[in-house]
Amino acid sequence: MLDDALKSEIQAAYRRVVEQLSLTPRYGQRLMMAEIARTLGGISMDSDGKRQNDTHVCVLEAGTGTGKTLAYLLAALPIAKAQGKRLIVSTATIALQEQVLNQDLPMLAKESGLSFRYSLAKGRGRYVCVARLDQVTGGAEPNPAMSLFEQDLAADNSEFEALATRMVDAYGKGEWQGDRDSWPESIDAQSWRRLTVDHRQCTNRRCGHFAACAFFRARRDLEEADVIVANHDLVLADLSLGGGAILPEPEEAIFIFDEGHHLPDKALSHFAHRFAVHACLGWLKTLKNSLTELNQALAAQTTVARLLATLPDTLQALEPLLGDVFQTGFQLAGRPDGLHDDETFQQVRFEGGKAPDGLREQATQLVKVFANLARTLESISDILRESLDPDKQTGLAREQAEAWLPLVALVHGRADEAHALWVAFSKVDPPKSPPSARWISLSRVNGEPDIEFSASPVSAAETLAKTLWGRCHGAVVTSATLTALGRFERLQERAGLASRYRYQALPSPFDYANAVLSVPQAAADPGNRDVHEQAIVEFVAALGKDEATLVLFSSRAQLRAVEKALPERVKQRVLAQDALPKRELLERHREAVDVGKGSIIFGLASFAEGIDLPGDYLTHVIITRLPFAVPDDPVGATLAEWIESQGGNAFMQISVPDASIKLVQACGRLIRKENDRGRITLLDRRVLTRRYGKALLDALPPFRREIAG
Ligand code: SF4
Repeated sequence: MLDDALKSEIQAAYRRVVEQLSLTPRYGQRLMMAEIARTLGGISMDSDGKRQNDTHVCVLEAGTGTGKTLAYLLAALPIAKAQGKRLIVSTATIALQEQVLNQDLPMLAKESGLSFRYSLAKGRGRYVCVARLDQVTGGAEPNPAMSLFEQDLAADNSEFEALATRMVDAYGKGEWQGDRDSWPESIDAQSWRRLTVDHRQCTNRRCGHFAACAFFRARRDLEEADVIVANHDLVLADLSLGGGAILPEPEEAIFIFDEGHHLPDKALSHFAHRFAVHACLGWLKTLKNSLTELNQALAAQTTVARLLATLPDTLQALEPLLGDVFQTGFQLAGRPDGLHDDETFQQVRFEGGKAPDGLREQATQLVKVFANLARTLESISDILRESLDPDKQTGLAREQAEAWLPLVALVHGRADEAHALWVAFSKVDPPKSPPSARWISLSRVNGEPDIEFSASPVSAAETLAKTLWGRCHGAVVTSATLTALGRFERLQERAGLASRYRYQALPSPFDYANAVLSVPQAAADPGNRDVHEQAIVEFVAALGKDEATLVLFSSRAQLRAVEKALPERVKQRVLAQDALPKRELLERHREAVDVGKGSIIFGLASFAEGIDLPGDYLTHVIITRLPFAVPDDPVGATLAEWIESQGGNAFMQISVPDASIKLVQACGRLIRKENDRGRITLLDRRVLTRRYGKALLDALPPFRREIAG
């Protein structure tokens, strides 16, 4: 139970912030704080600070205007500190991350009376590797084989070296923190790749530059922080490394996932594997060509010599296997002679995620050889790492180990990834659980045919339940839209959230009766494409000439067709997505509204979620079509197939709930502030004629309705 002192601390901090900033206390905000305090304050711990209960997570849907950042920071921060845990605030977008870091946390530190430190966490790849910088600028011999692997023998190496020298200078003088984001110029990806390392390549405490390392300096700062601002990708990357690699161990942290509805999709992409045959043949060839140099440099160490001696056979075994799998892939795709002349890309998904037996057998062979290769390279990496330790006598000079470890570790990483993909292709999924999606993509790389094999789980639920919710000390998941059709089930299924956790949809501060939801007589069934398109054209053409409107399309082709068919006088008011960068498009829209002119934004799905145009900047949202996703992506299609095979109805279980979320988000563009008003027009007649229509309408906020009969 939350003790009284902690409760008073939270209440006093809230009062101070409300007074200092003259905020209006909001019911939903207070309720949100109470829910968080009840959940996190109710966590019981043993004498080692280990959580004892399993109701440590709350899921709170809180619409725009609730003031949720303030609510979760004020409620969770004192509890995290009292329980000796760190608060990790994770967002899906940079915009929200910047708002939390640059506005909300500094404001809270100033006004709340709470004393805390905060810091931004970034992945290792955002920081320069000082050891690499040192190598490039001449402190150590560059390794020629490394450049071959990274395909970065830049024509103008002098420009790259000049950049590295400027970096050394700025970093040495303390004028730069060593991160890519704060470097004053933009750095091209190729140059940056040469200046960073991954977790395998980093020599960690054994590195001669450890004390001056930019990444580890930032990590030490994180250790001091009470609040760590991160993003979902970083949290998931950390979890996939076992947790505690970049961020605190999940057991030592309370997570706040803002924009939490993005977590399941982000998680899926972290658990997927890919393997492109052409690219692999390339790095295997480079490895083969580097064997002489590797032997010359490292064979003085007897174990390394023995391990290196096994590589030619392993590499030789791989070549024909990759050739076979390449051919099999093209045959399975019905393109035994390669892509047709008019094709640039072809994707073939295996039904039910089942790879054909022949391919599975080839995968099993590849698993064995890649496992062999990965093991050998890992053993060599381990010896090289040990050789950096002054207390260990491995028989290898530190300089040699330092020069070769990044390369061996890089190839080890690639062999590991290849191994993981082929393991996924060689497996048969257990009959009663959802399968993995498996598919192949044919393309051309530099005019040459290539094939990529991919595998992904269809749901991240199990992994998230195990690695995140099951391990973390506490968690809050929040977003403006978490429910589908008014319920949390869809989120639970996708994110692996247990039903025993606390769930609450908080009341909005907005008066939705200020807005009208209209399904006019003109709304057509998109099943008849021409009639539907014509209905949109006529509706948009008849808009008042000073209206500030957002028209949301679900197909780019239809957006273009409607724009083309509009009369010239209306077309002039249209600002179409893709024609302009988003920022400029919004600026032009605001300028037009500011001078009393009408403006009509034509946008696709991303505009249904990411547009914030309060007040007069947006008074009419037109949704041309119910936002059903076409399950044509291999992961979604495999999941739908699995549900059907189990006697379920994929459309009702996935498509309708997902459309409900998107529809709520799209409608959410209209009311951004308390006094906002306007109209939402739905131009898809199916909402009236199909049986799911009522459920979709009922899940929307209580707008005034004008529904044509
Ligand atoms: S500790 Fe790792 S990242 Fe830091 S300088 Fe050394 S090798 Fe580079």
